[in-house]
Amino acid sequence: MENDKLSKIVSLCKRRGFIFPGSEIYGGLSSVWDYGPLGARLKKRIKDVWWDTYVEGRDDIVALDSSIIMQEGVFKASGHLEGFSDWLVDCPGCKKRFRVDKLEKKNGHEYNCPECGETIDTDKNKPRQFNLMLKTNMSATEDEPYYAYLRPETAQGIFVNFINVLNTTNKKLPLGIAQIGKAFRNEVTTGSFVFRMKEFEQMEIEYFVNPNEATSCYKTWVQERFNFYVDRIGLCKGSLRLREHEKTELAHYAKACTDIEFKFPFGWSELEGIANRGDFDLSEHARVSKKDLMYFDSEKKEKFTPYVIEPSAGVDRTFFAVISDAYCEEEVQGKTRVVLKIKPELAPYRVAVLPLLKNRPELVELAKNIFCDIKKRIPAIYNDTGAIGKLYRRQDEIGTPFCVTVDVESLNDGCVTVRERDSMRQERVTKERVLDFIEKNS
Ligand code: ATP
Repeated sequence: MENDKLSKIVSLCKRRGFIFPGSEIYGGLSSVWDYGPLGARLKKRIKDVWWDTYVEGRDDIVALDSSIIMQEGVFKASGHLEGFSDWLVDCPGCKKRFRVDKLEKKNGHEYNCPECGETIDTDKNKPRQFNLMLKTNMSATEDEPYYAYLRPETAQGIFVNFINVLNTTNKKLPLGIAQIGKAFRNEVTTGSFVFRMKEFEQMEIEYFVNPNEATSCYKTWVQERFNFYVDRIGLCKGSLRLREHEKTELAHYAKACTDIEFKFPFGWSELEGIANRGDFDLSEHARVSKKDLMYFDSEKKEKFTPYVIEPSAGVDRTFFAVISDAYCEEEVQGKTRVVLKIKPELAPYRVAVLPLLKNRPELVELAKNIFCDIKKRIPAIYNDTGAIGKLYRRQDEIGTPFCVTVDVESLNDGCVTVRERDSMRQERVTKERVLDFIEKNS
């Protein structure tokens, strides 16, 4: 059933224009996806909500937009060139390649192949290490390569700009630097839709604090980010859980880490990680770049390397979680109604304006006028390409919270029918009141 849900979501995303396979007309590109007209809108809304909450909404967080391509030195210091790798193993049965840490253990060094069920014995099929960094050549000539790297996380752009930001903003600690942007990882495991991509987008905050405040600050961020998914993104509390990493699981530099997990159609998996990274990043960049990256607290007259708390969220995984949580099938008059119950604020369109009859020019004109008025205030779409039942079904499937239908009666009484997506309740309101009605009921 749950696998069934995954294939239904993938098919809906393709059919309605949320997500397409990357480079599709050339046969696709493994683990690369493109966002279509509706997907691009929903994705942007997710980023806007995050940005408004943290960049616009708080005085202790500033924005950054650093470059994707970065110098080799950055990743020597961060440890990515040496240690950013997965252990991979080939299944002797289906020959597919898997991450050892994601396999279900049978006993000792034996694992079950998730694809064909064959036993994978890591004593016989030795796992191999595989670096996830994507490398590019920036040289003007072929014979003298100059290698640079596509960042595997937006975080490094923040660390290398820490002093620039401090010097130009006159901000004091605690200070967060927030960034939304693309990151690249040459992930090998495939088949989990936009959960694991080679090119994906992150929303990260590096929150710099006095080391004494790091532990309590970390706990506050874990709660803050959990609440964000419920209150601002509209995910069900029951679809989310916190999982604190065991000491043995922590990256060597991390003091603590908690994952916010979401119940994806294939099971509980990480949606976001919140880590107390200690002073590892700034110290290492200071050591390798030989620049002073310490902070001077002018009140306490002390100099120290700040600790950093990192709430690191994935835009694509949030997108997937939103669609997955919102996807519903309901039986209505003997037919299955597919509806995406997305939070109105995130829906690609907040309202659709639909004329009941498209062969009545005065009706179409009125509908278009109403549409133009609404569109000035909220995201709206006009559609007259089918019978009303079909148009409603389409809007349900793309998560539009309200449909405004203009009928013959509207020409006489100036009223329209507003239909609410989830309850399917219909109400007559005057055309002047439509916007207020929608805003009040969203
Ligand atoms: P996983 O264990 O699932 O590979 P991770 O622990 O490597 O994830 P982080 O490095 O903590 O992930 O990255 C922070 C966030 O960025 C993740 O929680 C996720 O939302 C997102 N993210 C990471 N890798 C990918 C990817 N390949 N595709 C899509 N989103 C990703």
